[in-house]
Amino acid sequence: MDFALTDEQKMIQDMARKFAEKEIAPYVEEDEDNHYYRREILTKMGDEGLLGWNLPEEYGGNGMGWMEGVLALYEISKVHTSWRLSVSGNVWGPAMTINEWGTEEQKQKYIPGLLSGRSVGSFALTEANTGSDVASMKTFAEDKGDHWLVNGTKMWISGGHTCDVGLLYAATEKGGGTKGLSCFIVDYNNTPGITRIPILKKVGMWPAPTSELVFENAVLPKEALLGPKNKGFLVCMWMLNNTRMGCATGSVALSAACLEGACKYAMERTQFGVPIGTYQMIQQQIADMKLEDEGALYMLYHAAWLKDNKLPNQQATSMAKLAGCNAAVHGANMAMKIYGAFGYSTEYPCGRWLRDAKQFETLEGTSNIHNQIVAKIELGIQPNR
Ligand SMILES: Cc1cc2nc3c(=O)[nH]c(=O)nc-3n(C[C@H](O)[C@H](O)[C@H](O)COP(=O)(O)OP(=O)(O)OC[C@H]3O[C@@H](n4cnc5c(N)ncnc54)[C@H](O)[C@@H]3O)c2cc1C
Repeated sequence: MDFALTDEQKMIQDMARKFAEKEIAPYVEEDEDNHYYRREILTKMGDEGLLGWNLPEEYGGNGMGWMEGVLALYEISKVHTSWRLSVSGNVWGPAMTINEWGTEEQKQKYIPGLLSGRSVGSFALTEANTGSDVASMKTFAEDKGDHWLVNGTKMWISGGHTCDVGLLYAATEKGGGTKGLSCFIVDYNNTPGITRIPILKKVGMWPAPTSELVFENAVLPKEALLGPKNKGFLVCMWMLNNTRMGCATGSVALSAACLEGACKYAMERTQFGVPIGTYQMIQQQIADMKLEDEGALYMLYHAAWLKDNKLPNQQATSMAKLAGCNAAVHGANMAMKIYGAFGYSTEYPCGRWLRDAKQFETLEGTSNIHNQIVAKIELGIQPNR
């Protein structure tokens, strides 16, 4: 593994950094306060080619891989981690999954819109009583011969009420467990029988919409099925191993933002006549943050490298997500301490960092679930795919 970035990768990093500074940074506080999803940022990302990772040029992809995607998304997430969802929700979730499992017609119909940022994407697994145990989902898609009839309720769906197109996982075989789920592509603008309800009371991720989706006799065309019937669990696990890279990238970037902010503050803030950063106890906190942040960053790069080289990467992906999550949660906590009372003020970003960091312990596999994946692969209980 070569740790040196190519000139092209450095250029992508630079371009994404400038994009985030120009298009996202000016609105961070305003959108945070108003819980406002600024959709045009997604379109601009599409125009800049910041949504094309891992997808072929014939469908609007940029022909580049995981490492480039991670580098770009890192710069965007460092400015506002809510925007990491743009890549997970559009690219590494729906577009990549359609590209892998879809028919030619499905690819042509959906992928270009997702990669240009003209369509907002989503993926829906979770229900009120179905979280980590994905196979227990109750939303049911009944095969009616010439169409699917869907009933059930999904919860906590990122982009659920703003999306145009999304992947829906539903049971197609009652009591079939992991062998009775299927994946569907839903055109949310043209499917009657779906009620989309924003979830407004949430701890963080305020400019990133989250929703409840109620399906009441929603009719999906026959061709909405993505991949084989009853293979939805496989499709889902394949997808999650990709979207988790969005969480890993977003969390490491958030931890880096905390570290950068804490260092700057520690050298500006004086107490007892000297910058607080000259005190050994503050230095210990900075050193702890740096260790966790950089360890997580290299795990992220390693996972991206394995994926780019088509090598088994499930364990590395879970490790990157876990390490990033821990670095972000600890880093945000530490930053708030270093900022003192100003850290507790909403005039400073510490509160947002802490609120946003906590999401990573839950979504796309809780930390317990990722610890299990890492350990089971290490113990030889399950293979590393
Ligand atoms: C902001 C946000 C956005 C989200 N976006 C999406 C989305 O776009 N699409 C989507 O489908 N879902 C989404 N989710 C849902 C998310 O994926 C789930 O919350 C997650 O899968 C965990 O499920 P749960 O919350 O029901 O927790 P549960 O599964 O009920 O877990 C509760 C606790 O029990 C622990 N636990 C559960 N099972 C085990 C076990 N076997 N061993 C040890 N511990 C266990 C967990 O680690 C956790 O600590 C989102 C959630 C949030 C908060």
